Amino acid sequence: MNTLKRFLPWIVLFFILLICVPFLVQNGNTGAAKLIGFIVVAGVAIALSVWRQQTKKLMEKKARIALNANDRFWLERHIPFYKRLNRSDRIVFEDRIGLFLAEVHVTEVDKPVADKESCLYVASSAVYAYWGLPFWNYGNLREVLVYPDDYNNEKVISDAGYIQGQVHHGGMMNNTMILSLTALKEGFSDHNDGQNVGVHEFAHLLDKVDGQIDGFPAGMDSDNRKIWARVVANEMEKIRNGNSDINPYALKNEAEFFAVLVEMYRENPEELSRKHHLLFQVLDDYFNDNKANKN
Ligand SMILES: [Zn+2]
Repeated sequence: MNTLKRFLPWIVLFFILLICVPFLVQNGNTGAAKLIGFIVVAGVAIALSVWRQQTKKLMEKKARIALNANDRFWLERHIPFYKRLNRSDRIVFEDRIGLFLAEVHVTEVDKPVADKESCLYVASSAVYAYWGLPFWNYGNLREVLVYPDDYNNEKVISDAGYIQGQVHHGGMMNNTMILSLTALKEGFSDHNDGQNVGVHEFAHLLDKVDGQIDGFPAGMDSDNRKIWARVVANEMEKIRNGNSDINPYALKNEAEFFAVLVEMYRENPEELSRKHHLLFQVLDDYFNDNKANKN
């Protein structure tokens, strides 16, 4: 619409000039008629090329959502990880948020349009969970459904509900992730408890990129896979015997163990390194080993 408004005076001018041509020819003024014809053709060509350039720019802009100063201020206040980043890494973080929001639709089940804050919480979880990796492949994820609070197995939000997030594998909901807004916010409140539901669910997604959710994320090399499998089995035994500080939820299966460990790695890496050095080492290798290839 704006483009049409901008070009309207030119279209009117070309139209008037074109109308003049037959009159000039009739009066024997063919030289002037030719000149006007040439001006109109050249003008239309220039206008078309300007229009093409502008449309191209608009299309490129649509490929990512640009964050404004308010968004950056919001990130600084609510995402402790972003606050700790240096200037250039902040730009990468913002850029990846923009890419994520352009690709994945965030829906709040109780609102006609999702709040920007909820979108930023979801996108920050995605970028934070994948940070350090040379790729940010969210697989076939197309939509994140945000529930205002925790919910139960029937997807009913209730005080007694206990599910805070879910990644679906297969079936109708294969391209969907569900997150509870309350749990998302709680995950980012800065208390170093090693828990962050957004990171947990995106760790499952990272695990899912290679086609199966099995506790081994996409791209982990074979040496680290072997070490990981051995150390995880050991640590699970310790949790079973009550000799580990790791959240017993990790006992559910290897995939949950991986997601719980990524939460601990992201939220409190120093403590993880001190208490479970081998587990820390494998994760640190995985997330940061390819840093040289990042750009
Ligand atoms: Zn899980």
